[in-house]
Amino acid sequence: MLLIHPPVTRPCEPPAGIARLKAALAMRGIRATVLDANLEGLLYMLQAPARSDDTWTRRAGGAVDRHLADMRSGRAHRNHSTYSRVVGDLNRLLEVFSAPLETKVSFGDYSAHDLEPVRSADLIRSAEHPEKNPFFGYYCARLPQLLAEQSPAWIGISVNYLSQALCAFALIGYLKQLAPGLRIVLGGGLISSWLRRPGVRLSFEGLVDVLVEGPGEEELCRLAGAGHVPRIAELMPEYESADLDRYLAPGRIIPYSASQGCYWQQCAFCPERAEGNPYRPLPAATAAQHLQQLSLKYSPALLHLLDNAISPALLAQLVRTPPGAPWYGFVRVSRELQDPDFCRALRASGCVMLQLGLESGSDRVLEHMGKGITVQESARVLRCLHEAGIATYVYLLFGTPWETEREAQMTLDFTASHANTIDFLNVAIFNMPAAPEQNAAHALRSFSDADLSLYIDFVHPEGWDRKSVRRFLDQRFKRTGAIASIIRSKPPLFGSNHAPFLAGKMKADMV
Ligand code: SF4
Repeated sequence: MLLIHPPVTRPCEPPAGIARLKAALAMRGIRATVLDANLEGLLYMLQAPARSDDTWTRRAGGAVDRHLADMRSGRAHRNHSTYSRVVGDLNRLLEVFSAPLETKVSFGDYSAHDLEPVRSADLIRSAEHPEKNPFFGYYCARLPQLLAEQSPAWIGISVNYLSQALCAFALIGYLKQLAPGLRIVLGGGLISSWLRRPGVRLSFEGLVDVLVEGPGEEELCRLAGAGHVPRIAELMPEYESADLDRYLAPGRIIPYSASQGCYWQQCAFCPERAEGNPYRPLPAATAAQHLQQLSLKYSPALLHLLDNAISPALLAQLVRTPPGAPWYGFVRVSRELQDPDFCRALRASGCVMLQLGLESGSDRVLEHMGKGITVQESARVLRCLHEAGIATYVYLLFGTPWETEREAQMTLDFTASHANTIDFLNVAIFNMPAAPEQNAAHALRSFSDADLSLYIDFVHPEGWDRKSVRRFLDQRFKRTGAIASIIRSKPPLFGSNHAPFLAGKMKADMV
């Protein structure tokens, strides 16, 4: 079996879902090869002769090998301006490479002028004309030989983000041109979300043989004729074959999921809740043991916990049995994180950064959202983490159906007055999921006629529409002195994936 991670996602760590599939197949004695076509495809573009003669592109093209080496050694992460220049130069080369096809590739995103990833007819068009995709040259250079070497019975393609969808279908189209009899199984987070959406009928006849909803371990083992798989608790991801030192990060980042779903599951409009994804955690002791084993095996510079929210039980376990490498991930504001001693112990366990969905500075909005937190609790957690030396990456959400302009101002005031405890900020405008049971109370209107769109437009009950929210963010929120400087410190293009390396705390550890 050949498992492929298609472009485009941020090329800084190996794909975790595929690593778990490989482990499941290996346990049943089935050989699987992993191809990170995202990493390889982006490197292929970066190292191609520059397709433009302007000064910036020439300079970037001349420095590409040095820039790649600096991204991997940490020299690029020395300070924010060096980092921005290096990442900006590399990204320039991707954009210039993809421009002649009227497409745009960047680190972590992909768009084509005439195709939308949320329209099944466009996905099929992408498959029918793979030569119009900027990764076509890489596909041609890599896949024929790989297929000849491996002769896979099945090809599994994992699509987790919209930025992968069009390139994944171009890949499928090319594979079918190469060998029409190849059998393709398509899964991953995005495919699962589409399959779970009421009313969506996915059909890619002649291109995809099997569509998988949810974790693919069982289905892949069944397709390979291997019967049942061990329970997820017994599986540790397998990164053995990944070319770990080629990723763009100063040292290896090893991703790991200790759970599927979310233990809270009560936030209104959360996709996890909308899709009814059950919460399936590993026992905390097992997860902590896995993390220790991954540290021993791969010597990571950083462990990336992928859980939607790391449970308090696992946090406590990591304090008792530290993973043995620096780590970061998402948490909820909890009682434990309001305890300065607990936060200091977390820091001692290797925690360098925590991501927190604080969303709003208004208790009324938080209550309607079902977040189960208060503004005061958020403030206490930020202070404890800051004092413990753990960087904070805060997520705010504006324009929810319950927010008014006055409450958006409260979020601004909260952020400004706690700016000294916030290291990084992610600011988003609310998207209403296209899930009938969640949005029934709101007046809806379509963004477009795309059949696979996961979101729908709505009429804000207080007139606090996207345009007004955007104006507030651009003209007031982002221009507030203390907030502006936090926003500037966010790593361009790689965001939270590289933030721990730029946060003062981890830098101190790396020295
Ligand atoms: S904590 Fe996050 S993942 Fe969990 S329900 Fe809330 S928004 Fe969803």
